[in-house]
Amino acid sequence: MAIVELQDVHKVYPLGKTEVHAVQGVSSQIQKGDFISIAGPSGSGKSTILNMLGCIDVPTDGSVIIDDVDTKDLSDKQITELRHRFIGFIFQSFNLIPVLNVYENIEFPLLLGKEKVSRGEKSDWINYLIEEVGLADWRNHRPNELSGGQRQRVAIARALVAKPQVILADEPTANLDSKTGEQIIELMKKVNRDQETTFIFSTHDPTIVGIADHIIRLQDGKIVHEERREK
Ligand code: ADP
Ligand code: ADP
Repeated sequence: MAIVELQDVHKVYPLGKTEVHAVQGVSSQIQKGDFISIAGPSGSGKSTILNMLGCIDVPTDGSVIIDDVDTKDLSDKQITELRHRFIGFIFQSFNLIPVLNVYENIEFPLLLGKEKVSRGEKSDWINYLIEEVGLADWRNHRPNELSGGQRQRVAIARALVAKPQVILADEPTANLDSKTGEQIIELMKKVNRDQETTFIFSTHDPTIVGIADHIIRLQDGKIVHEERREK
């Protein structure tokens, strides 16, 4: 059973007196545990698709099915709840909070949610994530004291803290040198293997596309190639 499904999804943006057809009839089935690269040149619709998968944008036509539910049928409140429970986000600009240290940035999503976890359990889990992403010595440092790669590691731990089923990452390596970018993707792959978290990331870096086990290639808002490989 697919964990996420796109059914003939279209997205049209008004642009002055005309329109932009950003996504034109995209269908795909995403299985639990997939490690998916959405590849394609700038303007091909990658961000628009990720935004619709993350329920921060809605299709003009077609359906986004998440966990067997058509997101069209959900209220705003249910969408917010689904997003908190099910989806984690990683952005290319990291979006860390400058006045909070590494631990506090990772903890932040838990302060917004309703998760009932005890203090001890919570700090054990956050400290485990900090170890996993290799930042044990940086726990009390703020983002401006970290390198780009370290900041992206914080963003990955923060995306994982609420134990989402699916992590969406919009060009997670765009602001990193290629070696650091590969390390970040390897880290995402490790989490994907260990926790069976589904990862969907956009990129136009061919070496990073190669690590994926499911590749969706876009051009002008359409899928021009889709490939599934042995995990
Ligand atoms: P990227 O290649 O990193 O996706 P883009 O410049 O294509 O960068 O888009 C970044 C974001 O800016 C998009 O997700 C979208 O929300 C917004 N955007 C892109 N093009 C337009 C546009 N023509 N008008 C308004 N917003 C846009
Ligand atoms: P990519 O992420 O592959 O760079 P996007 O999904 O950002 O592509 O954009 C796809 C197309 O939709 C582009 O032509 C872009 O300019 C346009 N677009 C994206 N967001 C908006 C928006 N908010 N308003 C108008 N046009 C947009």
